[in-house]
Order: sequence, then structure tokens, then C-alpha cells
Amino acid sequence: MCIFCDIVNNRAKSYKIYENNKTLAFLDIHPISYGHILIIPKNHYENIYEMDNDILTEIIKTVKTVTELLKENMGINAVNIINSNGKIANQTVFHYHMHVIPRRENDNLDFIHEWWVNKLIKMDNDILSEIMNKLKN
Ligand code: 5GP
Ligand code: ZN
Repeated sequence: MCIFCDIVNNRAKSYKIYENNKTLAFLDIHPISYGHILIIPKNHYENIYEMDNDILTEIIKTVKTVTELLKENMGINAVNIINSNGKIANQTVFHYHMHVIPRRENDNLDFIHEWWVNKLIKMDNDILSEIMNKLKN
């Protein structure tokens, strides 16, 4: 059983704001900010590793639609877009979802910035080269 599948099938209550054939956008029940929205595929995929390019394309298109809705209806012109894959990455609901988090001036949500500032690893050029060589085609 999956809570997001239940939302897709209207077996669980949700606050849907946009849907099409393949994707659904609805309010996060425990939002980080006013207007925090989740975008999901209507079919169940646990995470990005299970998804093909076509459904991922549909997801990002719906993310774009949601950012436009936030802009037009709430005047939001800054968002963080976050997606966690796997328990180690802090995923807690195992039906793929993208978070769209509206940002406002002085909202005390500088978490992305703080990650970068506090977790920076000092890395030598030869290690950066080693990583590049491992990953590039
Ligand atoms: P994750 O931690 O997996 O990236 O995010 C899961 C998100 O799902 C959390 O932000 C949480 O508030 C939200 N969530 C969990 N259960 C429900 C639910 O039943 N309904 C809705 N709308 N959101 C939920
Ligand atoms: Zn599901």
C-alpha cells in the first residue's frame, strides 16, 4: 500500500492543484512553506532509478506548470525544486515525488545555501580529475 497511489485514486484525501494523464500536483500535508507542492507520476515508481526519460519529462513539465501557477496566482518568483531518491538521501515516501518549495524574502529557509556553506569539502585538483574520469563517457 502506498499513500500517494491512494491520493491518485482518491482513496485518500488530498488538495490537488493540477493533473494530466501521467502526473499529479497536490499540496504537501506538512509544508515547509506556504504553497509547498508535490508533483508525482500517477503510476507507482519508487524513485528515479525506476523511471524512463518519457515519464521524467512529463514530471518536469508539470513542475514548470506548477511554478507558473505559483507565479500567476501567488506572485511567487523564487522556488527550490528538490527530489530525494533512496533512504540514504532522506526519501521518506517511496513513490517518486518532486518538491516545489516557494521562497520569499526573509523566509528563514536558507537551507540550500547553508548546506553549501557548511558542507563544502576542500578537494584537490587531482581528486576532482579522478572523479571526472570515473564518470565521464
Ligand atoms: P520526502 O521526505 O520523501 O522527500 O517527502 C515526503 C513528503 O510527503 C513530506 O514532505 C511529507 O510532508 C509529505 N507527505 C507524507 N504523507 C503525506 C500525505 O499523506 N499527504 C500529503 N499531501 N503529503 C504527505
Ligand atoms: Zn505509489
